Parts: sequence; C-alpha cells; structure tokens
Amino acid sequence: MDGNRVGIIGGSIAGCAAATVLRRAGCEVTVFERSAGVLRDRGHGVSLSGEARAELVDEDLIDADLPAWPITERSWFARDGDTPLGRLLWQQPFSGIVHNWGMLWANLRDRVPGTDYRDGVRVSGIEPADDGVTVHMDGAAAEHFDLVVGADGYRSSVRAAVDPVAEPTSAGYVLWRGGYPVAELPQPVPDVLHQQTVTIAFPGGHALVMITPGEGGSRIYWGVYHQPAEPLPSDVDHLSAADLPGLDALLSQHFPPYWADVVGRTPRDATVVHPVLDIQTSSYTAQRIALLGDAATLARPHTGSGAVKAVQDALALGRLRREHGDWATVLAEYDAARRPAGTALVDLGRRIGEAQVTGTPPWMSMSPDDFSAWIQSVLSGRRLYLYDTPR
Ligand SMILES: Cc1cc2nc3c(=O)[nH]c(=O)nc-3n(C[C@H](O)[C@H](O)[C@H](O)COP(=O)(O)OP(=O)(O)OC[C@H]3O[C@@H](n4cnc5c(N)ncnc54)[C@H](O)[C@@H]3O)c2cc1C
Repeated sequence: MDGNRVGIIGGSIAGCAAATVLRRAGCEVTVFERSAGVLRDRGHGVSLSGEARAELVDEDLIDADLPAWPITERSWFARDGDTPLGRLLWQQPFSGIVHNWGMLWANLRDRVPGTDYRDGVRVSGIEPADDGVTVHMDGAAAEHFDLVVGADGYRSSVRAAVDPVAEPTSAGYVLWRGGYPVAELPQPVPDVLHQQTVTIAFPGGHALVMITPGEGGSRIYWGVYHQPAEPLPSDVDHLSAADLPGLDALLSQHFPPYWADVVGRTPRDATVVHPVLDIQTSSYTAQRIALLGDAATLARPHTGSGAVKAVQDALALGRLRREHGDWATVLAEYDAARRPAGTALVDLGRRIGEAQVTGTPPWMSMSPDDFSAWIQSVLSGRRLYLYDTPR
C-alpha cells in the first residue's frame, strides 16, 4: 500500500470535495488555499440536476436541506417593440435545481476539519518525483506528500507539471454577469421567473436571468453572452464594466424593456465581464499528481457544469482510492474515467457557444418545433439543423 499523505492545492469546490472523500478513504489530507476566510465571489447560481444533487446528499457532501430552487422550464424571449417582457418564442422543458455558489461551497467546506484546511497559504511551486511530490509555500517550510491534487482552478499552476502545453482557448466572446437581491426590484417578479429560467435571444448572443437562493433572501442572477467588436485577450481574467463598455448599448438595442431594466439594475461597478475560455488537457494525471475540477478541464459556462464536474472528479478519485492501494492504478483509472467526461463537456460548451453566440439562428422566425429540433441538434452534436447553411 502506497503512503496516504495527500496535499490538495486549492480549497474551493473541487478541493473541499476531494478533501472529504479522500479523508473518508483513509488518507491524511492537507488543503492549501491561498485566499483567507470565506470564498464568496466565485459565482452566483450553480445549477445541479436532481440526480447530481441526490448524489451529493447521499455521499454526505451537502446537507439535504441546502436551500435551492427547482427550475422546470426555460422561457425564450426576444425583443418585440415595447412589449415589456418581449415576444415569448419558446418554452423549453428544463430540469435543474439552482443553488447559491457560496452556500454550496460553505457546505462542502464545513465537512473539512479546520486542521486539514490551511487558508491564506499560497503554494509557490511543486517538485514532482516518482514516489511523491514536494510542495513549496510562501512563508512556510516545504512539505512532502505521497499524492498532490491540483484543485487550483482554471489558471492552475499544477497543470504545467501534468501537461505543460495545455493553454486556454478563447471562445471569442465575453460573459457579463451581475446580481442583486430580489427585494430591490420595484415590483413582484413576473410569473415567468418562478421555477423558470429566462433566456433573452438576440443576434450575436443571448442573456439568461434566474432567481437564486441567497443568504439574505433570494437574488436575481443574470449573465449576458456577447461577441464584442474587439476580441479580448485570453489571458485577461476579469475586466470592470468601465474597461469594456457596451452593455448599455446591448440592453437598449436588443432587450425587451423589462429585462433591460432587470439587468441594468446591477451597479456598473458590481458588474463583471470576462472572456469565455475553455481548456483541455492531454492527461489528468502524471507521476503522483491528479488534476481535478477546472484545473483538469474548463468547459464554457453555458454547460453549467463546473461545480458538478469538480465534485464528480473528487468522488471518482475517492472511490478509486478505496478500491486500490497503489496510486499508479488509482491515477490511471481516474484519468480513464474522468478525462472523457471533461472532453465531452468542452465539446458541448463549444456547440452551445456556436449555436447561441457566434452563429445565432434567426430566432424571431423560428417556430417552437424549429427551436426543439435546433436544441436537440446542438445537444447531440449533429449539424445545426437548418441553420448551419449561410443565408
Ligand atoms: C469568476 C468565476 C465565476 C464563476 N461563476 C460561476 C457561476 O456563476 N456558476 C457556476 O456554476 N460556476 C461558476 N464558475 C465556475 C465554478 O466556480 C467552478 O467551476 C467551480 O468552483 C469548481 O472549480 P474548482 O474548485 O475546480 O476551481 P475554483 O473554484 O476556481 O477554485 C480554485 C481554488 O484554488 C485556489 N488556488 C489557486 N492557485 C493556488 C495556489 N497557488 N495556492 C493555493 N491556492 C490556490 C484559488 O484561490 C481557488 O480558491 C465561476 C468561476 C469563476 C472563476
């Protein structure tokens, strides 16, 4: 049996889930998280399928009463003169359960004993060898582990030790995001936001609006995907709204009045915009290193998969450790089990991006049957129905 000391770099969704499942598999775990205190600002709403939520509850990774909103439909709107909500184009059957990112993380974090979780500690480098990995930290002595888990997100530095040439690929468009308490809306939310997510379709992009649970009450969460006139460099993580003007023009040009108002209520200094990227690696493992979550594969946010994939990566690693005493077998089977799932999500994100941002169809002339066939073709990877032919 190989040694059981595991160092986990990154204490977000992937890192906390990995810490719990590996500790339950008998490992002695240390998490290194460079941020001090509570992680809150990583996102707004996280959609899980009912199946994924049940799996997390069954595995005792989250509480059965973790607040969440079920979503049963996705309503597609487009601007139609002054009609407040716009024209309802299609009601898509949809099944998801929306969680608050910070609450989900806090639930996972609560299961990691404080002694196993060192926050405010940045890992400055790793030295891999065949029998383990030495981890260097800022301001502390180096430590040796039998396995290192790279759960350090999409800008992972651990990834370079596994796949030195893996690089982010820019999608060529951006995601604007914001949110605020539902109580700040001047009127009660329309019925269409109850148990539904709303998509606003426009040429060259779309927006989504939903209600998410929040600590002080429910919140509006919105995101707008759009291809800016000037592409952003892929090495930029975040910009402020002032760095990339253009959201107001999009709202006034393409949004039905009500949805323009909902999006426009987030103060501009609280609105973020970032380039949409994806990342694929040629392997999830090398020597005694395993990559998890966004460090392993980053799929575009349309897939709504980041948190679930991170937890499922962790569950797979924990299950394999319970089955095998040697890390070589665990890592080989982990790569074989999880890398194809990551690749499939990257491919799905690219198809959705092409269909809903870079090659949008003539939404306004599509019937519900057209929508249905179009979405099926996007999801299945078949050609884009009638809309892949230049008009
Ligand atoms: C800005 C942003 C917004 C997002 N919004 C949403 C959203 O609204 N909905 C949604 O479903 N998903 C969202 N995601 C994706 C989602 O957060 C991730 O997919 C999910 O958290 C799983 O990620 P992870 O744990 O693999 O990585 P992350 O959550 O990125 O965590 C990586 C962790 O590693 C730490 N770290 C990095 N380097 C070091 C180091 N050298 N030493 C120590 N610690 C280190 C970081 O501080 C971070 O806490 C967002 C991601 C980002 C970056």
